[in-house]
Amino acid sequence: MRFQDKVIVVTGGCRGIGKAIVEKFASEGAIVYALDYVIPSESEFDFENKELKNRIKTIQTDVTSEESVRLTFETIIGEQSRIDVLVNNAGITRDNLLMRMTSDQWDAVINTNLKGVFLCSKYVLKAMMPQRSGTIINIGSIVGSIGNAGQSNYSASKAGVIGFTKSLAKEVGSRGIRVNCIAPGFVITAMTEQLTEEQKSDFLKNIPLKRAATPETIANVVAFFASDDADYITGQVLHVDGGLAM
Ligand code: NDP
Repeated sequence: MRFQDKVIVVTGGCRGIGKAIVEKFASEGAIVYALDYVIPSESEFDFENKELKNRIKTIQTDVTSEESVRLTFETIIGEQSRIDVLVNNAGITRDNLLMRMTSDQWDAVINTNLKGVFLCSKYVLKAMMPQRSGTIINIGSIVGSIGNAGQSNYSASKAGVIGFTKSLAKEVGSRGIRVNCIAPGFVITAMTEQLTEEQKSDFLKNIPLKRAATPETIANVVAFFASDDADYITGQVLHVDGGLAM
């Protein structure tokens, strides 16, 4: 129970990796706010245990909208008076070869994956700066470091998240706030279901551990970064990818 009564916010928290992160923190005692563009029915969360379920609150939030993000963080701070952890997890892909990529595809990915990180971090600091503690964990991707054909928009957004992580870590370290980035490789979620069988087997061929990650694998590493065991780690990018990007 490393996070007993800690207040934790996870963007994109109702599906995929975000949902696994929400469930991990709730199972270790936290009060978790799952923010999402579309909020599914409560039954989406897997807990049989009602007490655990009651630890999870959902708020409809569009991370690309400053007004929506501002209102959400005002609500959470109003209800809890503090926020201990923010996980910037919401992310999308709109893949295309660059010559065919539309401005809409470019803007949608940059706005969600990079501007969303900026906005949520800006508003969570309104709680973390005065309390002089907190940790922000950004979910990047290995393609932010190594690139990927057909994903110039997505790779640029995730590379931006790395620069953002390091800059903010330098800016807020003196206030006791840590900022890190976890960069997954290939994780089985709705996002990767969009890949063709050929793309999936190409990925697996190149992963030294010869298997994809589950959302729970990523959630375990997020929990480590959020815990006191990581209290001297800031400004870092950790690849969690079975060795894919060495
Ligand atoms: P999913 O598509 O399964 O989940 C993404 C979540 O983000 C959804 O709940 C989605 O909400 C939410 N979201 C999208 N746009 C917005 C928005 N504007 N405001 C609020 N929430 C939004 O993706 P994954 O779980 O696979 O990905 C999670 C993170 O991990 C992403 O940042 C992704 O880039 C990163 N990642 C994933 C990898 C993988 O292999 N799966 C590999 C490397 C990185 P809704 O359903 O309502 O649209």
